[in-house]
Amino acid sequence: MKLGFNEATCMVRSDVETDLIECEKNGYDYIELRLDMLQEYLKEHSLKDLKQFFDTHHLKPYALNAIDWLNFQTVDEWKKVRDLFVFACNVAREIENPYIIVCPTLSNEMLFKTEEQTTEDTVRNILELAEIAEPYGVKIAFEPVGEKNRCCRSLRHAYEIVKKIDRDDVGLTLDCFNFYLHDKASELEYIRKIPAEKFFVFHINDCEDYPLGVLDHCHRIMPGDGVIPVREICEIMKEIGYEGIASVELFREEYWQMDPADTIRIAAEKTRPFI
Ligand code: ZN
Repeated sequence: MKLGFNEATCMVRSDVETDLIECEKNGYDYIELRLDMLQEYLKEHSLKDLKQFFDTHHLKPYALNAIDWLNFQTVDEWKKVRDLFVFACNVAREIENPYIIVCPTLSNEMLFKTEEQTTEDTVRNILELAEIAEPYGVKIAFEPVGEKNRCCRSLRHAYEIVKKIDRDDVGLTLDCFNFYLHDKASELEYIRKIPAEKFFVFHINDCEDYPLGVLDHCHRIMPGDGVIPVREICEIMKEIGYEGIASVELFREEYWQMDPADTIRIAAEKTRPFI
């Protein structure tokens, strides 16, 4: 697998320029840029500057993060989602970034949505976004997110949605933490049922040993430092033939307060043994 860095990991003290420089210095193959950090970057730079960086360095862009609020939106809310998605498509085309990650809606209303309702809504909305993305040459990586007030939480449900959509340009993001957050990774063997080419993105991370219901994204920790069966997940991904990115994605206050140069270096050291 290729070494990737997701900008969420340092987002409080870092910025796009710093992440690019430090990732290049530490031998990362790919970076996942965040749309909010990109909007900040574009206040002082152009997409041409960004493209030029990638043209002249080893580091390449991979997936833009993220389009949230995919489901059950009002007409006005959905318009905002679409507008952000079009912005992301434009950026992706300009800098030759192949994927955009989309995530299910987070709200307490989602607790009462049936799986069928979510499937129907997600299929319709992703199809609409895929039609927008097609002329830009960008693919959609749908990421199930594990907490109970997200409407699509499991890899199984997400894959059923992606199968229904049945397009080459729509696939999955597997995130170790989200996979564990759903049911402590008890669906480990389910990963084998999914063809490698349907995994567009792989987020690598670990977490502290808290019970489900307490565990949250802030408890993400460097790969190997926690209780997620990261080694087993990586072995299965390799066995099915996945050769894409393994991208470190953490949302931890402790790392946010550190010098981004240190966090990015340590993340590379901690992740390399797994890929
Ligand atoms: Zn993720």
